[in-house]
Amino acid sequence: MPSSSPETVTRFAPSPSGYLHLGHAHSALFAWRAARAAGGRFLLRIEDIDNPRSDPAFMDAILEDLSWLGLDWEDPVRHQSGQLDSYAAALEGLRDRGLLYPCFCTRSTIRAEIAASGHAPHGPSGAVYPGTCRTLSPDARGTYLAQGKPYGLRLDIAKALDSTGPLTWIDRGRGEIQADPLSHGDVVLARKDIATSYHLAVTLDDADQGVTLVTRGEDLFPMTDIHRLLQALLGLPVPQWHHHGLLRDEQGERLAKRDDALSIRALRQAGKSPAEVRALAGFPD
Ligand code: GLU
Repeated sequence: MPSSSPETVTRFAPSPSGYLHLGHAHSALFAWRAARAAGGRFLLRIEDIDNPRSDPAFMDAILEDLSWLGLDWEDPVRHQSGQLDSYAAALEGLRDRGLLYPCFCTRSTIRAEIAASGHAPHGPSGAVYPGTCRTLSPDARGTYLAQGKPYGLRLDIAKALDSTGPLTWIDRGRGEIQADPLSHGDVVLARKDIATSYHLAVTLDDADQGVTLVTRGEDLFPMTDIHRLLQALLGLPVPQWHHHGLLRDEQGERLAKRDDALSIRALRQAGKSPAEVRALAGFPD
């Protein structure tokens, strides 16, 4: 391979909140095959920052199911719960640059604020945050902080975008995409319960692990707007992406994650072979 073309590094990054199902198998095989086809490397990352829903039993089951399916990955398996220092360092840098602000809102105060404003813009991540805490007076902010009121940290998207300028990214399926972070509103980068978020953790880990091709379901396609912005803000390398279609049933409905009959485990117990399950997941041998 010429030295100018970087090695392909892909990853599968499940959250251990249940057993893997056919949709996960599709995603894992998609990433694994992309790495193998390019003579590259395939990594596994357990996205276990969602403490209350992460169960160690599911983590073991994920590894067991993937290897039963015939996948192999490079050691070590990364756990996001072990990366909290790296997330904290990035947050501190962004906060020092004035790009983050503490948000004391609860879901219900946000709902009330949106209802009172009479218009409820919807972005790719749901209702757009109305910016309540961005415009909080320094006095009010100081009082809340002094009272020890719990807060998360939001990214001031407009300010962030001002500092980076317009951004694009490459999806291998769809070509060059104009990133549209503004449509999401000020997203949370550090939650109240854990000082990170999906957006921050996934972006930092992909960079730190040297992932060059991020593959995942098309449901996460819009999230790349935010990840591309974070890469620009944090000076991280920019990978390519390939968002794949989602597995659907005969009616065209997306397979429900919680349908236990479609877990790899249940299919295996019902006597299916790994090759049969790979075929059900859209990858016949
Ligand atoms: N952990 C995420 C999930 O299970 C996937 C993260 C990603 O691929 O960006 O849906």
